Amino acid sequence: MTTIAFIGLGNMGNPMAANLVKAGYAVHGFDLIPENLVIAKEHGVVVMANAVAAVKEADVVITMLPAGKHVLSVYEDIAPKAKKGALFIDSSTIDVESARKAHAIAVRHKLLSIDAPVSGGTGGATAGTLTFMAGGSKEAFARAEPILKPMAGRIVHCGDDGAGQAAKICNNMILGISMIGVAEAFVLAEKLGLSHQALFDVASNSSGQCWSLTTYCPVPGPVPTSPANNGYRPGFAAALMLKDLKLSQEAAQSAGAVTPLGAEAAQLYALFNAQGHAAADFSGIINFLRGTPA
Ligand code: NAD
Repeated sequence: MTTIAFIGLGNMGNPMAANLVKAGYAVHGFDLIPENLVIAKEHGVVVMANAVAAVKEADVVITMLPAGKHVLSVYEDIAPKAKKGALFIDSSTIDVESARKAHAIAVRHKLLSIDAPVSGGTGGATAGTLTFMAGGSKEAFARAEPILKPMAGRIVHCGDDGAGQAAKICNNMILGISMIGVAEAFVLAEKLGLSHQALFDVASNSSGQCWSLTTYCPVPGPVPTSPANNGYRPGFAAALMLKDLKLSQEAAQSAGAVTPLGAEAAQLYALFNAQGHAAADFSGIINFLRGTPA
């Protein structure tokens, strides 16, 4: 039986690990937070004393950690102790440079590796419908694909080392910018005396159509499942949107790309977060633009 080590059993990692257990894998898990280990155990994960113990018997190692520094420090600890030829999959959202360093650590220890960040949030993690964006060699991707399947709705091989992280931050830069654009249009419509529903009915069938409008509409009413109907509870928290926009701007700076709207979106989300809305859904930025409390 294939044994999978799962390091980082937080909001995303725990439901992802649960889907691997359901698919019949032996999952050896570790997290620094004891409460997360209790939840993992309830899902059938074999809880280990530390990350090194979790990877010792593992054919595949999945990490789902907050940021690049956590991934690199965990990789430095576990890579020397992993089985030779084991496959490392990092699904955290991290900067492209750290992702490439993580690949280099894996290579140094004769391991296969891919970066495979996800979109789809905690709902997608629970339902097993995440989109995985993978970067790495064809060989590593071919080994990773069947492992990712029980957690995935869609798996895309984006290119070489770091390409998955590049796709993730480019996508989320579009998302941050488009949400602000849709929110601004609703605020303008209000001032012009145009109803939310009328703008929605026109724009959702016209050239203004986009996911931020038709799936995640930032005003209550037109899309009953959007967080706006639920007091802007996440969803996708504004803190995570700011994290991803900052990653996009770091990447733009180091690659020499000009992304003025990405920069503006990062600034607006920084202000929204600083006003105490980091835990609110990112679509709540409409209240900030309108000047009303979220
Ligand atoms: P989270 O904070 O709930 O989980 C991260 C977990 O990592 C925590 O439980 C923490 O204790 C653990 N951890 C940190 N350092 C560790 C270490 N050295 N050893 C073992 N465990 C350690 O965060 P999350 O929401 O699960 O997100 C995880 C990653 O997925 C992030 O990179 C995030 O940006 C990304 N992501 C999140 C979402 C979402 O909607 N939550 C969506 C897509 C991507």
